[in-house]
Amino acid sequence: MIVVMKKNASTGDVEHMVQRIEGLGLKAHVIVGTERTVIAAVGDDRRAHKGSLESGPGVAEVVPILAPYKVASLEVKHEPTTVRAGSLTVGAGTIGVIAGPCAVESEAQILASSRAVKAAGATALRGGAFKPRTSPYSFQGLKEDGLKMLATARDATELAVVTEVVASEDVPLVARYADVLQVGARNMQNYRLLEAVGNTDRAVLLKRGPSATIDELLLAAEYILDAGNPNVMLCERGIRTFETHTRFTLPLATVVYLHAKTHLPVVVDPSHGTGHTYLVPRMAAAAVAAGADGLIMEVHPDPENAMSDGYQSLTFEQFAETMATCRKVGQALGSKF
Ligand code: PEP
Ligand code: MN
Repeated sequence: MIVVMKKNASTGDVEHMVQRIEGLGLKAHVIVGTERTVIAAVGDDRRAHKGSLESGPGVAEVVPILAPYKVASLEVKHEPTTVRAGSLTVGAGTIGVIAGPCAVESEAQILASSRAVKAAGATALRGGAFKPRTSPYSFQGLKEDGLKMLATARDATELAVVTEVVASEDVPLVARYADVLQVGARNMQNYRLLEAVGNTDRAVLLKRGPSATIDELLLAAEYILDAGNPNVMLCERGIRTFETHTRFTLPLATVVYLHAKTHLPVVVDPSHGTGHTYLVPRMAAAAVAAGADGLIMEVHPDPENAMSDGYQSLTFEQFAETMATCRKVGQALGSKF
């Protein structure tokens, strides 16, 4: 349920209602908007009486949240959420660009990548230190050594670091080095991992599972929000369909749809979404045209010899050209790029 407070409700009124809600065994999420404050009362609300909450001090009305996801819903918070992590700002008209190699391979590789993507206008650096690979025989990442290399690149460029965490027990370690914790497509429904990242103060990039519906993506985000972490970015990275010419099928309607359902920012990954370098630049621009709040792209100094995902990685030059095109599209639509 949403407890909508009156415009002139005092902080004492809000605090009182939070206690009433918690007394009913529900969790209270206070959302302070420019117009009004609302309190989302979430949990099993069968025992909560709409009428008795409605009679509380400073309460304007109590309305049910119809969507299956609650805190993520636009019903609870009408204004778009901006996620900030160091140099990265995503949402509410500001487009963030996260770029870098699929995997951290060496200090030289990540340093060169970070300098090149920054020069072209990227606002955060990506690079996997823990890689979730389809085959156990593929390169699994440099783990903590890779995290240290990312931290070195951040020191050199001041770019925020976005890196994946694949297991809940690794969250404290990865959070020590990362500005943004990436939850990969394969882990979208790893609920213990979602709770663990929800318990940190790091922003989270949550990638859509290749077979997950949009409601399932939003319910996965809800786990992170419910744990108390409001800084969640959703990422459309392509889904599995009958089509085999692209690695995944990248549905850009997701961006428009999500903006109609949630206040959370939406990032698009045209690299994994297509699986081919030549498809990335135009799909990146198309994502910006669809209203994406951010892009995440794979960029490598030598894609041909990359240890993972070289076939979908941009060279430094291709990335700079892609950025120039995306900037034009973003600016034409009035976004800050
Ligand atoms: C990645 O970003 O390198 C990655 C593994 O992506 P996804 O989880 O979308 O497959
Ligand atoms: Mn990859």
